[in-house]
Amino acid sequence: MNDMYCDVVIVGCGVAGLYAALWLPSDKRIVMLSKEDLASCDSMLAQGGICVLRDETDYDAYFEDTLRAGHYENRRESVELMIRGSRSVIDHLLALGVRFERNADGSLAYTREGAHSAPRICFHKDITGKEITSTLLARVRERSNVSLMEYTEMTDILVEKGTCRGVAAKTRDGGSLHIHAADTVLATGGIGGLYEHSTNFPLLTGDGCEAARRHGVKLEHMDYVQIHPTCLYSTRPGRSFLISESARGEGAVLLNHRGERFVDELLPRDVVTKAIHQEMEKEGVPFEYLSFAAVPEETILGHFPHIFERCLAEGYDIRKEPAPIVPAQHYFMGGIYVNRDSATTMAHLYAVGETSCNGVHGKNRLASNSLLESLVFAKRAAHKITENQERSDTYESNYNAACC
Ligand SMILES: Cc1cc2nc3c(=O)[nH]c(=O)nc-3n(C[C@H](O)[C@H](O)[C@H](O)COP(=O)(O)OP(=O)(O)OC[C@H]3O[C@@H](n4cnc5c(N)ncnc54)[C@H](O)[C@@H]3O)c2cc1C
Repeated sequence: MNDMYCDVVIVGCGVAGLYAALWLPSDKRIVMLSKEDLASCDSMLAQGGICVLRDETDYDAYFEDTLRAGHYENRRESVELMIRGSRSVIDHLLALGVRFERNADGSLAYTREGAHSAPRICFHKDITGKEITSTLLARVRERSNVSLMEYTEMTDILVEKGTCRGVAAKTRDGGSLHIHAADTVLATGGIGGLYEHSTNFPLLTGDGCEAARRHGVKLEHMDYVQIHPTCLYSTRPGRSFLISESARGEGAVLLNHRGERFVDELLPRDVVTKAIHQEMEKEGVPFEYLSFAAVPEETILGHFPHIFERCLAEGYDIRKEPAPIVPAQHYFMGGIYVNRDSATTMAHLYAVGETSCNGVHGKNRLASNSLLESLVFAKRAAHKITENQERSDTYESNYNAACC
């Protein structure tokens, strides 16, 4: 068994883990773990986009949309922190090099998704997650204080007298490693790998939650799981391909096998999912259809090139015919309970991103709120860790000065 020592260990290299690393001071030694390769995280898959508070006039509507989608079970303080933090996060992403779509006059272009009462979503084609994540990764790679360890799987957290002291991990060659750290951040993503049909990477099996549970760290709403209404129906095995909600935001409609609409496509995800399941049961079929007939061809090719190509590869030209769709597991609203600074109930243990539950999403997530929530609360975790480590450095140097 080998030992490593650092200031902060971050388990997970999706947007949440990467953004936390970028907000930690450059004199901190940071170790980041990725269970497989760096590209295998859900952050790379996000299609639709990332929400932002466009201006003050949209605050109440954005707040209400988030609460309505979450069945009013959201933690209001967290929603407020996320919305109020959104503009500076988007500005920071732009400064880091993220290319969001712009209008002819240079202003940011906004799209809309289900359950949003207004367009307020920044996007990059239909591969927003890849654009953001690869930019963050490039910036992290420039930091000499951060070590990225691929194919290194956290197997447990290290705990001494109720305090987290780092993580235990298994390396690519099967060796075991103890990474001792002053602070630990769990950013292990969702739980889709536990499901037969999911849009998530199969490697995402809720490892952060399981390690936390094992040591009595508080978890919350472990049964709040979001099913995405529109995944491409396929008989091939493997990850379900998601057709972003923004397709419906841009005019795509749901049809049954008789070519009839059966639900308002812009209702919250759980409502649309239920309607599709009911229609499938009524018709005795394994899928329904998503028609792009009302979406202009230039929007299909310009805004949804990835979706277009993938449907084509499965044999459906969405410019001419509807694509078969079926709901699949998509997102986990519950997770490791954290406070406003992403601190768990165990000292020196933080959780960010999909593995955490800060209550932003309530019982059901509003589309395009998760990238934003991950970033806002990862930044808050980094600030809190920095503040606490600086305080303990000051304490130690005062103590040493007093002793010597
Ligand atoms: C198809 C799809 C489309 C989406 N579209 C959108 C969208 O348009 N807008 C939006 O806001 N959200 C969207 N989401 C949700 C959003 O992408 C995720 O919620 C978010 O990216 C989660 O980020 P994360 O950093 O928490 O986790 P991930 O990005 O999933 O990263 C998890 C990391 O943890 C690592 N890990 C896990 N277990 C271990 C372990 N035991 N040891 C070491 N490392 C481990 C993984 O290797 C990975 O690096 C979408 C999700 C999917 C699947």
